[in-house]
Amino acid sequence: MVFSVAMSFFPNSGFHLEKVSSHRDRNSKKIMLSFDDGPHPQYSEKILDVLREHKISAVFFIIGKHVPGNEQILHRMIREGHVIANHSHTHSVLWDLWPTARMSEDIEKCSEIIHSVTGLRPAWFRPPYGVINPMVAKAVLARGMAAVTWSFRSFDTNTKEENRLVEKTIKGVRGGDILLFHDSLAVTASGLGKIIVSLQKKGFEFAGPEDFLRKKAYADC
Ligand SMILES: [Zn+2]
Repeated sequence: MVFSVAMSFFPNSGFHLEKVSSHRDRNSKKIMLSFDDGPHPQYSEKILDVLREHKISAVFFIIGKHVPGNEQILHRMIREGHVIANHSHTHSVLWDLWPTARMSEDIEKCSEIIHSVTGLRPAWFRPPYGVINPMVAKAVLARGMAAVTWSFRSFDTNTKEENRLVEKTIKGVRGGDILLFHDSLAVTASGLGKIIVSLQKKGFEFAGPEDFLRKKAYADC
């Protein structure tokens, strides 16, 4: 196995949660783009335009409640070779404090809506705010999914200035990183092209999500 897999063990259940946050080979020049919190009616398509221009596929961790009215964005993501994954239905600020059963239902609701629109059932989950406590781990395990987080956080949610976002990203990215951005932000949509070109100039290669993680993105159903 070439991807990074950290196993969390639950003595009572005997099951393991598979958690992936980067490529195992840190000497690799491969990196992977991930976008959270869409679909967004204004910015997701701008990001898709940039990705299409540069022939790069990425993974979109979407929020279930953002899907109604934006179904065509999901269709476009699939048509253009991207992966759609689960980022919960509600993305509640209290999400990681919920009981496991409620989290599990919320994950399922997001998977259901993705399935109803695309016919695909996501196998990857990214918890809201990236928190994986024992309750979250049990909920993800109960749904039979893998937890996919990140190793480079762009902080695009806190950055208003495009140039700052671009510079920080170019300086900070290392080989094997999973990059976290948000397709719900103007600054990300406008800075992404420069980020891609600059990282490619530094020799980085944007790998497709399933290639990068060596994992299937969807359950068989
Ligand atoms: Zn999020």
